[in-house]
Amino acid sequence: MTSPKKPAASRRRKKPFAASRQLFARLRDLLASDAGGLPEIAALVAGEMGSQVCSIYVVRPGETLELAATFGLKPESVGRTRLRVGEGIVGMAAASGEALNLPDAQNHPGFAYRAETGEEQFASMLAVPVRRAGRILGVLTVQDREPRLYGRLETESVGIVAMLLAEIMERHGAEDVAPESLGDSLPRQFTGRVLAPGIARGRILPFGLNAAPSQLLAEDSKIELSKLDKAISKADRELDQLIAAGLPGGQAPREVLDAYRLVSQGTGWLGRVREAINDGLTAVAAVDQVGRELRARMRRIPDAYLRERLADIEDMVGRLLAALGAGTPKPARADGLLLLVRRLGPADLLDWHARGIAGIAIEEASATGHAAILARALGVAALAVERGALDAAEEGDEALLDAEGATLILRPSQDVLDVYDRALTARSERQASLAAYRDRPSVTRDGTAVTLMLNVGLALELDQLDATGAEGIGLYRTEIAALAAGGIPDVAGQAAEYSRVLDRAAGRRVQFRTLDLGADKLLPGEAESAVENPAMGWRSLRVGLDRPAILRRQLRALLLGAQGRKLCVMFPMVATVAEFRAARDLLDAEAARVRPAPESLHVGAMIEVPSLLFQLPGLLAEADFVSLGTNDLMQFLFAADRGTPALADRYDLLSAPVLELIEGIARACLEEEVGFSVCGEAAGKPLDALVLASLGVTALSMSGNSILRVKALLAEADLNVLRPVLREMRRAGAAGGSLREPLTAWAREHNLPV
Ligand code: PEP
Ligand code: MG
Repeated sequence: MTSPKKPAASRRRKKPFAASRQLFARLRDLLASDAGGLPEIAALVAGEMGSQVCSIYVVRPGETLELAATFGLKPESVGRTRLRVGEGIVGMAAASGEALNLPDAQNHPGFAYRAETGEEQFASMLAVPVRRAGRILGVLTVQDREPRLYGRLETESVGIVAMLLAEIMERHGAEDVAPESLGDSLPRQFTGRVLAPGIARGRILPFGLNAAPSQLLAEDSKIELSKLDKAISKADRELDQLIAAGLPGGQAPREVLDAYRLVSQGTGWLGRVREAINDGLTAVAAVDQVGRELRARMRRIPDAYLRERLADIEDMVGRLLAALGAGTPKPARADGLLLLVRRLGPADLLDWHARGIAGIAIEEASATGHAAILARALGVAALAVERGALDAAEEGDEALLDAEGATLILRPSQDVLDVYDRALTARSERQASLAAYRDRPSVTRDGTAVTLMLNVGLALELDQLDATGAEGIGLYRTEIAALAAGGIPDVAGQAAEYSRVLDRAAGRRVQFRTLDLGADKLLPGEAESAVENPAMGWRSLRVGLDRPAILRRQLRALLLGAQGRKLCVMFPMVATVAEFRAARDLLDAEAARVRPAPESLHVGAMIEVPSLLFQLPGLLAEADFVSLGTNDLMQFLFAADRGTPALADRYDLLSAPVLELIEGIARACLEEEVGFSVCGEAAGKPLDALVLASLGVTALSMSGNSILRVKALLAEADLNVLRPVLREMRRAGAAGGSLREPLTAWAREHNLPV
């Protein structure tokens, strides 16, 4: 490799942040003097960092990154070396928008070798995206011969240089380096996962792409520290106001927001912000930079639950920047707007909801994240959309958020809009007509009564009891509140929650399920264990029986919360009758001590582990009721992970083997006079609910938005007409394939609203 003259400083390594201050000052001079050429900057960075290479790649039309300047790589590669976005380490940094810090870049599976650069002699590489207002303009790289991981301060420094570089690149010919707005006016469709069902049409509001801070270096660190403290107090006060004002009926999801406050303020990151201010940054630049770093590190955490807390930190960074007068201000009202964000925390979701947002698409979201839990509870349509949507969207673009069909359509054609508009009109008419079913009994045309109950996870969802006319709660998932709160409350706290639930149920049946935690959802203080199949690991009732203190505390809380009322308790993930017996013994032991005793105590088991199907007589002899969890039973029956989208439609509940199984359980429960219900997603799908009813299932538990649809369908259906048809379909489908298509066709022929 032939390299240009080495800057004097390249031989020794300096204390990174101190060096950076000088570097920033020189970059600022370059910026002011209009003399800022990319080659000078590359040489300056290499020199100040004490690194052998610094290169600047810029995005060119056609999603290509071109080497625009280098210090240390072969000069003839400038203007020649090109990588597609996503290709090589540089392309990966551009595609992901995240820095890559690799001690041995050449052996990284994504490495793309370009002979003309002569880079084979450099082992380590730090590649940092250069972005402005969310657009990737290029990538800044630093390379060194010896394999080394660049330190936190070094990566922070290069990150700040990249921010300045973005400004320089934009000033000196933005049209050269801006990514081509290919197809900016064409329709684009993105798929995703439904976080909270619903369909919304509106204009896109991309958000959270905070512009780079306008001033990076502070005149006086003390002033900046005091600005930071004031901003923290202000953000905290605003959160209190949000909790107090943001929810219908004043129902604050405290469990979610208190956990958010803990996570967002308790990770020690604010300490690092203070350090960065002491190192010379302004409060805004320090929050922005440390926030970016923290996000980059958290994304690499393998634990999904911890990674989900990323959105909470993002939320807090945004709030602090806003309190510091930086960041993008939210519009006062957001009616008719579709929010499109990279991540979203619970406080922000609540805030947007209060401003009237019509729907939400989140690029990095998980169905069990705080935002998803809240969106479901608030009834806001929300979609976890695949990456790229944010880059493809422009503010004000017309869009359709279909959080039922799991798609986001940007700039839809008029034809598509017309189809959705018709569907939305039909839906609102249907919803108006469905409301009439609220107070009607749930009974089929042939007179079969089917009890419809709610699945509930957060106190917020209790509103659905009256809104839907549900006959009770068939599944109260106690772990949701515990997970949202980041820990299990003490006995008094749990008892208060259960008591409130029974108050709201006002005499209707409530089946409390004991904590379904464990494996990847670790209890506080538990050591993480790297198990391969957490769903089949040490979870749920297994934890409860092995650590009886936790389970006993919960059982005591349930008995106390009942305050002498009727109490139904069911155990999840029961695999043997012996396990059920052991759990029941613990409950009986607690029940013997708690006064007042419940008016009646009913003990049940979830049927979701296939082994239990072979112990039914024994189980039914001991259980007062059972509830079939279709989500887990299907995943274990077919060895098909319930969280893997590629398997979502591969095995169907509406197939001969599963229907045979469910019919057998329903019959056995009827004979033994043991209450039987089906909970899990299938119970809330109208067609599945209809088929279950025809198999003899007389109680179904589902989420609030399914109840009226299922009730309306059942009211139209004559099970005596369906049964012989179904028998024939099952015979024809004995090989186990899905019967959904012929069943749907049959239902449509009979004008049934499936
Ligand atoms: C189920 O497995 O079907 C069920 C209802 O429980 P969960 O979805 O909470 O695992
Ligand atoms: Mg389950």
